[in-house]
Amino acid sequence: MSDCLFCKIEKGDIPAEKVYDGDSVFAISDINPQAPVHLLIIPKKHYSTILELDEKDQELVGSVFSAANCLAKDYGLDQSGFRVVVNCGAEAGQSVFHVHYHLLGGRAMHWPPG
Ligand code: AMP
Ligand code: ZN
Repeated sequence: MSDCLFCKIEKGDIPAEKVYDGDSVFAISDINPQAPVHLLIIPKKHYSTILELDEKDQELVGSVFSAANCLAKDYGLDQSGFRVVVNCGAEAGQSVFHVHYHLLGGRAMHWPPG
């Protein structure tokens, strides 16, 4: 998708701090962090929302959680705890329509989220 922010970041057309680079997913630091650690785990292939993901994407989703667990350990969150969140659609607060998983940690989280 030529006009997609995360596709542009994946291609290197827009700079971002890449903290993980795998075969099918990469991760960056969120530009507007909501916790001491706030990373975005992003499939390299463009999907607008998680509504486009299904059984055919099992390997991709597995890779997302491999990245999440690897990053949680790297950032020292695996013992204290962390949260992985996906927003789907406008009412959930999705603002970038290229699937991404937020990984948040480093502070106590509240439930339910706002
Ligand atoms: P969402 O609202 O769930 O779609 O999440 C989009 C996230 O992307 C927000 O947390 C933004 O702060 C973040 N974001 C937007 N632009 C950039 C950028 N250029 N680099 C890193 N993160 C970004
Ligand atoms: Zn995209």
